[in-house]
Order: sequence, then structure tokens, then C-alpha cells
Amino acid sequence: MKIANLFQEKKPVISFEIFPPKNTTPIESIFNTLEEMIKLNPDYISVTYGAGGSSRDRTREIASRIKNQYNVEALAHLTCVGHTTVEINQILKDLEAENIENVLALRGDPPADQPNYDFSTCDFKYASNLVKHIKNSSAMSVGAAAYPEGHIHCLRLSEDLTWLKHKVDQGVDFLVTQIYFDNRIFYNFIENARRIGITCPVSPGIMPVLNSKQIKRMITLCGASMPAKLLIMVDKYGDNPEDMEKAGIEYASRQVEDLLNNGVDGIHLYTMNKHQQITEILKNVGKA
Ligand code: FAD
Repeated sequence: MKIANLFQEKKPVISFEIFPPKNTTPIESIFNTLEEMIKLNPDYISVTYGAGGSSRDRTREIASRIKNQYNVEALAHLTCVGHTTVEINQILKDLEAENIENVLALRGDPPADQPNYDFSTCDFKYASNLVKHIKNSSAMSVGAAAYPEGHIHCLRLSEDLTWLKHKVDQGVDFLVTQIYFDNRIFYNFIENARRIGITCPVSPGIMPVLNSKQIKRMITLCGASMPAKLLIMVDKYGDNPEDMEKAGIEYASRQVEDLLNNGVDGIHLYTMNKHQQITEILKNVGKA
């Protein structure tokens, strides 16, 4: 089923994000976790696409297992950075051959060793070019990324939103947001997005903070801001992993609860390939 149709049928659409294990780890390691996640009845599960070429075939392999063995909708992430049009067409064909009907169309980041990478040398410079191509050349339902606090490399929030509108206009069916830790940021973002005519469903992305190292890495990578409440929590429990995890699950549960009370289109949980924590969050909000 196309995720675009899922959003028409139910609210909220509950989704999980997983990433493929590294090529040096047996792929089977993800399937035990997945089996536990399936018990939570997610509406779909998304599988990330490895930056710089690592584990890319595994995205298709895992998405195929989700769809064809577990009978859950799969959303395959696809980044266009460094890919030619011919390669993108082949990837889309391969996904279709596995019965996968949904793609999250992304630009991707510059290769880690080339921070000044010139995107203009790519067949697809922005995710919007990829969205348009997928819509013109396949029957896929297409999702895309949104950044409630602005993309880390964007200088002005309003500019980022204008480019988001442009991207959605190329045929985006639904949006999934970057993580953020204060729902007010999401509500402001949605208000501004709706005001400029972005009408498609938007799933806020929530990630439980389970340790202080993880949060530091995430903030550096994606630029999410830390509300005082979260800073205090990390200060209080950061040196005690067990308490930190409990507090992180509680924090994420309250975020999800508030979002549900405010009638959001969906909830997208960044699972970090861990099922116990998302199980607890969903139990805490009466969804498991
Ligand atoms: P775009 O939408 O192209 O935006 C990139 C930047 O360019 C933004 O600053 C935007 O404002 C600007 N821009 C857009 N269009 C134009 C234009 N026409 N002219 C000028 N400026 C423009 N990365 C991975 O490698 N693998 C994954 O699986 C993955 N999954 C993700 C899932 C989600 C939900 C999110 C939020 C991010 C994910 N990422 C993933 C990270 C993503 O690839 C990076 O954030 C990347 O830097 C931007 O990708 P994008 O698709 O948002 O790009």
C-alpha cells in the first residue's frame, strides 16, 4: 500500500525508522529487533540509505523483508548525492521488483572526506530534483525530509521553508521531520508550513535521548536545539546510564503524548535499532 493512502485512511500514522547494520555485521542481526518492532503494529517502517555507499543494498534487502515477510509497509530511503540518473532508475526498478511502493527522496550529505563537495556536479542537485524524477518515472509514493529548526546548512529559516514548499510542489506525498526536542518548534513549523500552502501530511520525528554521548552527536550532526528541560535532565542523569535512559524514555513519551493530544498526522520514532525503548514509549501513551 502507498503511504500516501495510509495517511488518508488513518490518523495518526505510526512509523519507525531503522538503519541497516554495517556490512561487516551479519544482516540477520536486525531481524530479531524487527520482529519485536512488528509486534507493535507500526503502519510502516523506514530503512535509511547509507551515506557514501555503505550498506546501500541492505536498505532494499531489509525493506523487502519488512514488506514481503512481515506484511508491513516499507519506506526505502534514497539519497541522490553521487548517483547518476541511470543508477537512480536502476535502484527504483530494483525496489519495484521487491514490491516496495514508497521512497523517501533525499539529497544526502556531502561525503565525509569532502566537506566542500560541489553538488552542482550531480545529476540531482537537490532532493526536489529527485522527487520530480521519481514522480515522472515511477508509481512510487514519495516522502521527503523537513527541518522544523531549518536545515543545518541553511542560513534563514524562511528560506528553508520556501525550498521545502518548492520540493513538496514537485510531488511530495508526505513529510517526515528531523528530530527536535521541543514540540513548540514543531507547532510553529507546521503553522508556517500550512500558511505558505504546504498541505501534505507531516510526521514529527521523535528520538528518545538514551545517553549523553548520543545527544551530543545528534546535536552536532543535525543542529537540533536543546531546551532547558532537557539540559537539566542530561545534567542530572548523564553519568548514570540507567536513570538517563528512564528519563529519556519519559521525556520522549511526554513529547509524543502532547503531539497526539494536538492531533498530528503521524508519529515517526527514530528507533536507533532498539525495540525496548519504543515499546515503552508506545505503552506510556496507550498505543501498545
Ligand atoms: P534538500 O531538500 O535538497 O535540502 C538541502 C538544503 O538545500 C537545504 O538547506 C535547503 O534549504 C536547500 N535547498 C533546497 N532546494 C534548494 C534550491 N533549489 N536552491 C537552493 N537551496 C535549496 N541522510 C542519508 O544519507 N541517508 C538517509 O537515509 C537519511 N534519512 C533522513 C531522514 C530524515 C527524516 C531526515 C530529516 C534526514 C535524513 N537524512 C538522511 C539526512 C539528509 O540527507 C541531510 O539532511 C541532507 O543534508 C539534506 O537532505 P534533504 O533531502 O533534506 O535535501
